[in-house]
Amino acid sequence: MADTSKRRIACFCEKVFEADLPTVVDLAARPEAADEVLRGEFMAVSCPACGKRLTPEFPCRFTGVAAGPLGVLDIELVPEAERVAFLSGRLGRELRKPDRVVIGVPELAEKLTIFRAGLDDRAVEMLKFLLVTRPGRDGEPSPATGREVVVSFRGEEGGRLVFHIAGLREGEVAVARLERALYDRIVADLGNRLAEEPFHDFCEPPYVSLRRVEQDGAS
Ligand SMILES: [Zn+2]
Repeated sequence: MADTSKRRIACFCEKVFEADLPTVVDLAARPEAADEVLRGEFMAVSCPACGKRLTPEFPCRFTGVAAGPLGVLDIELVPEAERVAFLSGRLGRELRKPDRVVIGVPELAEKLTIFRAGLDDRAVEMLKFLLVTRPGRDGEPSPATGREVVVSFRGEEGGRLVFHIAGLREGEVAVARLERALYDRIVADLGNRLAEEPFHDFCEPPYVSLRRVEQDGAS
């Protein structure tokens, strides 16, 4: 069951039209919505004039999200266009105390992938931190100044956690694999680590994301 709202959408062909798009999605009742998010088809609409498939982003609340060890969570999707406003505390609307905030559908897809794998997203963000701060090997370039390195969790493969790292080289995505045992060690000591810097700065809900501190550093 999904609540919807009429949204105005502007196509690249300059056609402006309205579509009913969800504002609340209960994943416990409609688990297929998670697959739509993972396939990049969530909120997808076709332009009535030119037929182009569009994937606009509007605020949406996901309830009933099964998050393994964390229980059942509510996730608030903040559109990518509102990233700066959200991070600077000027979103201009109240979020109803979500357990997690994600910015943009790709972050939502990543969060659902983490929870489907039965992982704790805070420990996954700590792994990302290790990936971006470890010394470069084999002359790996450090990221160009002012360019944000974005690490995203892609899944578990043969006892390893797979991450994509974008932003190291223009137009390239690096793949990193970390042993699951490393994750398990972090989880075993999670309580202590959560209280430490710098982990506390990006693991404190609701916006559990390494991108929180990188944005702070850039501003
Ligand atoms: Zn169009």
